[in-house]
Amino acid sequence: MGNKIVLDVSNVTKSFGNRVAVNNVSFTIREGEIFGFLGPNGAGKTTTMKMICGLTSITKGQIRVCNYDIPKDQEKALSYIGALIENPLMYPNMTGWDNLKYYASLYNNVSIKDIKKYAKIVGLEARLKDKLKTYSLGMKQRLGIAQALLHSPKLLVLDEPLSGLDPNGVKEMRDFLKILAHEYKIAILISSHMLSDMEQICDTIGIINNGQLLEIKSITSLRETIEGAKRIQVKVDYPNFAGKIIVNEMRLKVDLAGNRVLVYTSEDKISEITQKLVGYGINIFGIEVATKSLEQIFLEIINNKTKGKTNIV
Ligand code: ATP
Repeated sequence: MGNKIVLDVSNVTKSFGNRVAVNNVSFTIREGEIFGFLGPNGAGKTTTMKMICGLTSITKGQIRVCNYDIPKDQEKALSYIGALIENPLMYPNMTGWDNLKYYASLYNNVSIKDIKKYAKIVGLEARLKDKLKTYSLGMKQRLGIAQALLHSPKLLVLDEPLSGLDPNGVKEMRDFLKILAHEYKIAILISSHMLSDMEQICDTIGIINNGQLLEIKSITSLRETIEGAKRIQVKVDYPNFAGKIIVNEMRLKVDLAGNRVLVYTSEDKISEITQKLVGYGINIFGIEVATKSLEQIFLEIINNKTKGKTNIV
């Protein structure tokens, strides 16, 4: 990830009449960084993206793209942005190539080489001669992204680009977005309500709910949270005794549930746990690693933060 800040959103608020859709949101995205905007429907993702792209006015706060202010230096700022918000206008009876050529003609300096380059990156090279109406949803999305890239922007803004895609389509998109960010150094802002997809694509995740950016987490710290939510379940003949051994000898937190001891730790402690228990003559009938689902963790972040707590799990 480069050091250069491409997008700087600072204390931005958007109100529609009395309704505050985006409430004092601040974040930055650097060169080559994929920033995921994660939140349920109505959280304020699209509205924030529209403000960044100059599609709706900013009520309060400041947005800068490559140091150019929106709306003050809007034309310059927008020249650094490529966006796919809502469905792009495409011509179904034209080929993919002609669609791209048409959009390229709207700019002054997009070469045939550029069109070919971006069509290749999004994996559509082989289908460019086919009419758009023969494309799958995933292919249309990819063509939309190629179109957004034609003028070689520094920031790519993609609103829910994964929605409706099958797992294979998600994987393909994930792969080329990573190439765009990590090899071509494009900063990417992407929104979704699917934590599992975002976890695999993003470098940083901003969790947004009710217009507020509740938390910004690097993917490493998100993974640590997921790791920290793990428990080892050990099925034994004397759960009370087994629990005491684990607490006293290993200083780990446990809960009891029927004939199971739930140990709050990760897999690397399994062999030590079994050795201790077997050493005390306890019979083990089964061991399982249980983890909270990503969705559960996400909901807990939202609930805790909304209640004003700071802990995550
Ligand atoms: P979704 O995934 O459903 O699009 P979102 O996170 O993108 O969700 P937004 O579309 O940004 O959410 O909406 C945030 C809030 O702003 C919602 O309460 C929505 O009803 C409201 N809103 C958005 N656009 C307008 C508008 N033009 N006029 C009034 N309210 C609006």
